[in-house]
Amino acid sequence: MSPNRTNDRTHFSPDQAVAVGVDIGATAIKGALVDLGGNLVESFHQPSPRTPAALRSFVHLILQQTKPQIRGIGIGCKGIIDTETSRVNSLPGDLHFLEGQLLADVIDPKGLPLYADNDARTALVAEVLWGAARGKRNAVLLTLGTGVGGAVLANGAILRGASGAAGHLGHMTLDVHGGLCICGNRGCLETRFSSRAIESDYLAHLYRAAPTKLSLGKAGEPPSTEAIFRAAAEGDESARCVVDRAFEYLSGAVVSVLHIFDPEVLIIGGNIAEAGPQLLNPIRDEAAYRTRILLGREIPIVFQNLVGYGGVAGAAGLVFLQQGLLEI
Ligand SMILES: [Zn+2]
Repeated sequence: MSPNRTNDRTHFSPDQAVAVGVDIGATAIKGALVDLGGNLVESFHQPSPRTPAALRSFVHLILQQTKPQIRGIGIGCKGIIDTETSRVNSLPGDLHFLEGQLLADVIDPKGLPLYADNDARTALVAEVLWGAARGKRNAVLLTLGTGVGGAVLANGAILRGASGAAGHLGHMTLDVHGGLCICGNRGCLETRFSSRAIESDYLAHLYRAAPTKLSLGKAGEPPSTEAIFRAAAEGDESARCVVDRAFEYLSGAVVSVLHIFDPEVLIIGGNIAEAGPQLLNPIRDEAAYRTRILLGREIPIVFQNLVGYGGVAGAAGLVFLQQGLLEI
C-alpha cells in the first residue's frame, strides 16, 4: 500500500537539513520531511498501522522517496515512551501491538538516528519551535478530544518526570467523589471534560427523559460533542446544562494548571478546540478572574497553531533539538 503523498513546498534547497517526522495516531499515521523552519517538504498519510511491519513499511516508503540530506527520524506516538531507548512502555487501545517494543527495532531506521516521544509532547515541541509558544520557555499544551492529553515545557525543557509519565493533565483529579477513569483513578478531568464525558452526560439526560432536542443515532449512539455544543448554542436546555457543567470542570483544571506551572502561554488543541470562541471565551474569563491574585497577570490561552501536521513537525523537531540544529 503506498501512502498518500503531497508536495507541500516547491522551493526547497537540497543542502538544507531536513528530518523525517512521524505521528502515529489511533486512526491515522502521518509523516513528512520537515525542514528547519518547520515547513513540510513532502507529507504522507495513511490509516494507522495494525502490525509492526505496516509501521516499518510506512517509514521506509518516506525514506525511499526522499533525496535531500536527512538528519534523523523523529516519532511521536500515543502512550508512555522511553525517550532513551524508544521503548513503548505503555500503550492501551488499537496501537497496543507496539507496547513493549523498541520503536528503533520495529522501524529499522537504516543507520539514521531515531528519537521518539509521546505525541502530545511532539505537538508542544512544534508549538515551541514554530507556533504559539515560539520564544517561550514555559508553556503548557492541553489537548481536548476523545480523551484529554497534555504536555509541559518548564524552564525550557519538556517535562518528562521520573518514569516518563509527567504531563498527563487529563488525569488530574477534579472530583474526589467521581467515577472511575480509564487510568484507574477516580474523578479525573477526562471523566468530566472530554468527548466521552460530554456525550455520556447528554446520554444520561436522554435516559432520564429530560427536555432534549437531540436524540440517539441509528445504532443507539449518543449525539456527538459537536452536535451537543451546537444544540447548547441554540437553546437546548439539556445540552446547555451538560456544556456549562463541563466548562466549570475545565475552567477549574485550567486554573490548577496555571497555578502549578506558571506558564507564559496555555495552548488548547484537540478536536473539541474546533468549538472556537464558544470554548475559549468562558475559559479565558474564568481563568483570568481566578488566577488574578496568585499570578497577578492574565496568562494568554490560545489555540494550537500547527493543527493537522503539528505532531509530525514536532517529531522532526526532536531530531533538530537533539542534534543542536535548533534550540528552545
Ligand atoms: Zn484518569
